Amino acid sequence: MPRVGVMGGTFDPIHHGHLVAASEVAHRFELDVVVFVPTGQPWQKSADGVSSAEDRYVMTVLATASDPRFKVSRVDIDRSGPTYTVDTLRDLHRIFDGEDASADLFFITGADALANIATWHDSGDVISLAHFIGVTRPGHVLTDPGLPQGSVTLIEVPALAISSTDCRSRVRAGEPIRYMVPDSVLEYIEKQALYTRTSS
Ligand code: NAP
Repeated sequence: MPRVGVMGGTFDPIHHGHLVAASEVAHRFELDVVVFVPTGQPWQKSADGVSSAEDRYVMTVLATASDPRFKVSRVDIDRSGPTYTVDTLRDLHRIFDGEDASADLFFITGADALANIATWHDSGDVISLAHFIGVTRPGHVLTDPGLPQGSVTLIEVPALAISSTDCRSRVRAGEPIRYMVPDSVLEYIEKQALYTRTSS
């Protein structure tokens, strides 16, 4: 059965830290594919503060297009209501499971986000559907989210010194983000004037 990385995130915007993290995890865990899944309406975030799902989806497609290991899924964007990882993983099992066996899913996300997994919707089911990989930048204290032994791996990724929050603030302040995000993403941000409006 395929070994499938599921890279869940808001990706507002996607940056080189995300791409390096996905590549590193794909290598370490011998994954066949990494599916990037931009959130629809991120749980616990106000819709006003986040770019539209379509803008975040397009940036994710642009950023991953040149790597044959990377794919992008619309499952979270096309499902109405808040995004819950339990639904993401059930949808991806439906896509990747075989008739007789289920795919091995590896859910990759920021270690900060994963630290709160006990509060996630249907957290008991979530944990049974994938192995969890929390990625973070060096120097950041890695908090074990307290999942059952063997179900989570925490990994430091130096390139994650880049953050989406910093990218957005830099654009707002007129500072460069070239080389922090792929050129195609930078061109899209400029063309759509993302992060320059007060609501973004
Ligand atoms: P977030 O709170 O915006 O991010 C927390 C930290 O993790 C930030 O430093 C962020 O950096 C980093 N991060 C997020 N996604 C990452 C990724 N794929 N790779 C590397 N670093 C990442 O987290 P979020 O984007 O809202 O949620 C992350 C994932 O967890 C999503 O798939 C979301 O649906 C899921 N989640 C599910 C529930 C639930 O089921 N109830 C609740 C919360 C989150 P950047 O800002 O630079 O990305």
